[in-house]
Amino acid sequence: MDSIYLDNNATTRTDDEVLNAMMPYLKEQYGNPSSIYSFGANVKEEITNARKNVARLLNADVDEIVFTSGASESNTTAIMNAVRNNPKKKHIITTKVEHASIMEAMKYLGQKENYKITYLSVDKQGRIDLEELKQSITKDTCLIAVMMANNEIGNIYPIKEIGEIAKEKNILFHTDAVQAIGKVKIDVKDLQVDSLSFSGHKIHAPKGIGVLYIKKDTPFIPLIFGHQEKNRRGGTENVPYIIGLGKACELILKDEYKKNERIQFLRDKLENEIKQNIEDIVIYGDTENRVPNTISVGFKGADAIQLMLMLEGQNIYVSTGSACNSEIAEPSYVLTACNADVNNYSPIRISLNKYNTEKEIESFVRVLKNVIKNMRRK
Ligand code: PLP
Repeated sequence: MDSIYLDNNATTRTDDEVLNAMMPYLKEQYGNPSSIYSFGANVKEEITNARKNVARLLNADVDEIVFTSGASESNTTAIMNAVRNNPKKKHIITTKVEHASIMEAMKYLGQKENYKITYLSVDKQGRIDLEELKQSITKDTCLIAVMMANNEIGNIYPIKEIGEIAKEKNILFHTDAVQAIGKVKIDVKDLQVDSLSFSGHKIHAPKGIGVLYIKKDTPFIPLIFGHQEKNRRGGTENVPYIIGLGKACELILKDEYKKNERIQFLRDKLENEIKQNIEDIVIYGDTENRVPNTISVGFKGADAIQLMLMLEGQNIYVSTGSACNSEIAEPSYVLTACNADVNNYSPIRISLNKYNTEKEIESFVRVLKNVIKNMRRK
């Protein structure tokens, strides 16, 4: 059986159009964009075009876009910038379900720099409470960091409402939009965010390229010093990857929001078939307000790691939704925050993309049903 890739929240296949757009910059057009002669200057022009595509996708100004190595760098830059520019304010509000790049920065600031970190709780569906957010704000709050969509359960968070609250209180607001970009329309002006991050490899561009949107006139201290990116991110530009990211954004602008309807149709079909064919399951997250490609599902009496490995044996790739980067898999902190019964209903995350087909979904359900049946028999 051909492989079926259902782990697109982890990373996505590079689109052929993206790859084709990149190739000349890996081969013939290798000039340094900082060079004054035309061999470099032409490349610079293409970077500007890529930046314009990113800006259009976010409804941002071109000068508000900074290219980085990925969303982890963008998140770190935004957080460190907010704290360095407000040294007297020592309180940050975030959530219990952010990506590790935010969580680890918070842990560092809390433990090593005496910041007070408020982690907003989530309910069983993974939703935050805006009242709790409002109550948490103090005179000392320098930053609110809330993700736009969650990587494990797919929840979409109320960024516009949070933007309004932050604006009213004059607090910087950062959002990690990695899992939302291309799946929901984003207008940074409407959302009133001060900074936003996303990553190329979740939208069919390669790994190692990302974006930091930083609102005009926001005081800025770079994480990496140098003259590139208008002194906001040093280092010779990663030209081919920037071109690839620009192309990926152009494809989203062209027609890929439409592709989400098909992805959602496949996701809903998959979810319904799981419900109809397999007993004793639970769907995690906010099923009313999710990105269109994600399902987090727990199966009673089936160990998630084993399940993932058995599916891998059939060339099907899903994620466990656990932080299984160590020998001992820890339960997912996102699902733990949701108070989910992960011990009895072991979770897997299934995340689709534009390449998945109805046939793949049908094959997957067939295999899944048998694998779960065999696991439960033991
Ligand atoms: N934020 C979220 C929500 C993510 O899902 C990821 C990647 O998994 C990141 C940030 C980090 O992105 P990158 O791999 O580009 O550093």
